[in-house]
Amino acid sequence: MAKIKMITPLVEMDGDEMTRVIWQKIKEILLLPYIDLKTEYYDLGLEKRNETDDRITIDSALATKRLGVAVKCATITPNAERVEEYNLKKMWLSPNGTIRAILDGTVFRTPILVKGVTAYIPNWTAPISIARHAYGDVYKGVEVRVPDGAKAELLVTDRDGNQTKTLIHSFETGGIVQGVHNIDKSITSFARSCFNYALELKQDLWFSTKDTISKVYEHRFKDIFAEIYENEYKERFEKAGIEYFYTLIDDAVARVIRSEGGFLWACKNYDGDVMSDMVATAYGSLAMMTSVLVSPDGIYEYEAAHGTVTRHYYKHRKGEQTSTNSVATIFAWTGALRKRGELDGIGELVDFANRLERACITTIEEGVMTKDMISLSDHPNKRAVNTVEFLEEVATRI
Ligand code: NAP
Ligand code: MG
Repeated sequence: MAKIKMITPLVEMDGDEMTRVIWQKIKEILLLPYIDLKTEYYDLGLEKRNETDDRITIDSALATKRLGVAVKCATITPNAERVEEYNLKKMWLSPNGTIRAILDGTVFRTPILVKGVTAYIPNWTAPISIARHAYGDVYKGVEVRVPDGAKAELLVTDRDGNQTKTLIHSFETGGIVQGVHNIDKSITSFARSCFNYALELKQDLWFSTKDTISKVYEHRFKDIFAEIYENEYKERFEKAGIEYFYTLIDDAVARVIRSEGGFLWACKNYDGDVMSDMVATAYGSLAMMTSVLVSPDGIYEYEAAHGTVTRHYYKHRKGEQTSTNSVATIFAWTGALRKRGELDGIGELVDFANRLERACITTIEEGVMTKDMISLSDHPNKRAVNTVEFLEEVATRI
């Protein structure tokens, strides 16, 4: 069979540890036999980042801006231990943070559902995707402890030096105070990314804040979303048969639990931090969660939601067997290939991506899975396979 031809290359961002091992195997076993794979390769492995003073990460993000679609392997975010382990020149920033800052994107996470693995909330039969606003609020907060007898005020000085002062609290006894901020531009980008992605998923978009209590700060989020929806997206949503639904955050949480899933849930920064872990856990496994960074101007970077699976990598290096789940990394590739196929009008590439995803799901639904899935699956004849065996099992089902 002739291999599927590509037109525009994908930006390929290689990574670290066990996921780097899996990366090569996925290409070798599942992609190269079928596709005349065209990629622009960037090695974001920690050694190369250190060697290039992290220039490679910036270059890969700029390439993504130029080519439009990237696929990324999990990478190490260095901490003090890693600085020692890899003898680093400095504690380089998180590659995901660097890429996100350059693309100004929002991260969407979606669980991959298979039959035989029941969510902890059994009525969640369709995936809930979460979008987390990745700027500001308490993550850029400034906090101080305040002694008794002190008065705390909010002071804003405008460009011309005019000042407005607002009393926060007069402290009769000691306490604490916190200053948080956000930026209209960032909220606007977040809103556009969410509306675009909902259209792409053809799913309703939910958004919520606590605007009844926070009548300026939280209300600003609500207003920006509403304005952008009315002016730019309402018609397209109606045409696609989907809805934009705003409600208070506490009401949203109650509705999410009662729902069947199948929608996109946009969350403010803190809500997204908390709710994405809840949703991921409820669906079963981080190894079955995909992640895509979408910029407001429609640039896509696909990856798995999990990390480099360090413990498995150390076993692998000692020559021991591993049973690492590659599904989320495979879906990063299929997401990127499908998007590339759509943009370049290559139907065969879109079909292949769909077929490969189907093959992964069928493999698990037929009882063949990596160890992490064994305790979750209620398949009567389930069988654990090692890392490479799983990929080979998938290949037989393409
Ligand atoms: P992790 O790599 O996601 O692994 C945590 C644990 O979850 C693993 O030890 C394993 O449990 C289980 N697990 C995760 N993915 C799995 C898979 N595909 N198959 C089977 N089991 C899986 O998180 P971490 O240990 O916190 O972080 C390791 C490194 O990854 C860190 O250096 C961190 O900076 C980096 N990281 C990168 C990204 C990214 O690039 N997007 C995201 C998160 C973390 P068992 O050991 O019990 O089997
Ligand atoms: Mg968290």
